Amino acid sequence: RKALYAQMRDMPARTCDEIDISLNVNAGLLIDVPHVIESGADGIGLYRTEIPFMVRSAMPDIGDQTRLYTRIFEQAEGRPVVFRTLDVGGDKLLPYWEDMTEENPAMGWRSIRITLDRPAVLVHQLRALIRAAHERDLYVMFPMIAEVAEFDQAKELLDQQLKREAERGYVPNRVEVGAMLEVPALIWQAPALLDRVDFLSVGTNDLLQFMFAADRGNPRLEGRYDTLSPSVFAFMRQLVTLCDERNVRLTICGEMAGRPLEAMALIGLGIRRLSMAPAAVGPVKEMVRSMNAASVEGYVLSIMGSSSKSLRSRLKAFAIDHGV
Ligand code: PEP
Ligand code: MG
Repeated sequence: RKALYAQMRDMPARTCDEIDISLNVNAGLLIDVPHVIESGADGIGLYRTEIPFMVRSAMPDIGDQTRLYTRIFEQAEGRPVVFRTLDVGGDKLLPYWEDMTEENPAMGWRSIRITLDRPAVLVHQLRALIRAAHERDLYVMFPMIAEVAEFDQAKELLDQQLKREAERGYVPNRVEVGAMLEVPALIWQAPALLDRVDFLSVGTNDLLQFMFAADRGNPRLEGRYDTLSPSVFAFMRQLVTLCDERNVRLTICGEMAGRPLEAMALIGLGIRRLSMAPAAVGPVKEMVRSMNAASVEGYVLSIMGSSSKSLRSRLKAFAIDHGV
């Protein structure tokens, strides 16, 4: 299979009915980046900037961060890199940061909530990103946005830093700014949100635990809810429609996107961009090249109104019957 994936590396991720799917990778360490090129992915759909912060013994300064982000741009060899700003708290703790013990960390002081409350950290990171992106394309996304106002506040900080750094001679070619959709409340702010963002990226790892109010790390809940369920499909379908209407690029970057059956369902729901672990690119590309998007879409639409809690076995049977 490894040989097959290597052989497919330069082939497009195109369905049998000629729909192009953009496959990207999730990365967090410099050593992940060469895998983008090896895997034949279009770019880095999610660069988790907190990982380098987690493996150090002290907060990296602007210079350290600028050097690191520059290396990432260099290693990506011109492919787009979507940098997610610091996403700590919850299950991702920094050893040198203030004590963040909380009763309910997944819903606690984490991610954008921290960086808006401690804006110096975000400002330093944004400066480093802008400097590294001089004469390059800068894609920035803010994690765990629950309110449009939070996006506005973060974007305002970015705009201020772009202005400041331009005076110092650092000017990216192009800047695009997006939000991660991980908190369900955001979808009901769609008109305002979609007017502001250049792109949206769905973090299904967090989104699903909030949709079902179920800690995904809790073994007692294992198997109770499925990602391939009518409620998840309804959510995704609505999101695709909203983003298509307003021409906003939509990516799915949670672990779900890297599993072939899940990816097939997402494409059937109208998703055209996925970001996943590098090792998942080969298997997902193989699946994409064997599926017919229109027939999967027809099938997905025909079963999504079902009252069963999981559509997995039906999708699996469909995939087998149709040679996916
Ligand atoms: C997610 O929540 O799906 C996501 C991509 O972010 P992380 O896994 O880093 O929380
Ligand atoms: Mg997340």
